[in-house]
Amino acid sequence: MATRGEEDIARTGRRCGGCKVRKPLTDFTGDRSKKDGLSVYCKACMSEHNRRAAERRAARDGRTIKHRATVTAQIAAEYRPFIAGNDTKKDEPEGK
Ligand SMILES: [Zn+2]
Repeated sequence: MATRGEEDIARTGRRCGGCKVRKPLTDFTGDRSKKDGLSVYCKACMSEHNRRAAERRAARDGRTIKHRATVTAQIAAEYRPFIAGNDTKKDEPEGK
């Protein structure tokens, strides 16, 4: 059984630990603390995370930050066709 290693991930992207959507590696931020040097969260999730953190700080300070639409959900919807096509072609089982 051939191992699906880094090479495969480089071609097919990886699943985000936040939105659970498979995305190209270019959609992940760097994280030098990780083995492969990439964050487990995509950029959308990272910005969402950062936005919430900023909101919490703002709330603590008695400020308010204007809410944007749920960017993560929008991006997830945009990626769905791409992911579906990919999975069909590659015949790759969805990881757990
Ligand atoms: Zn994500």
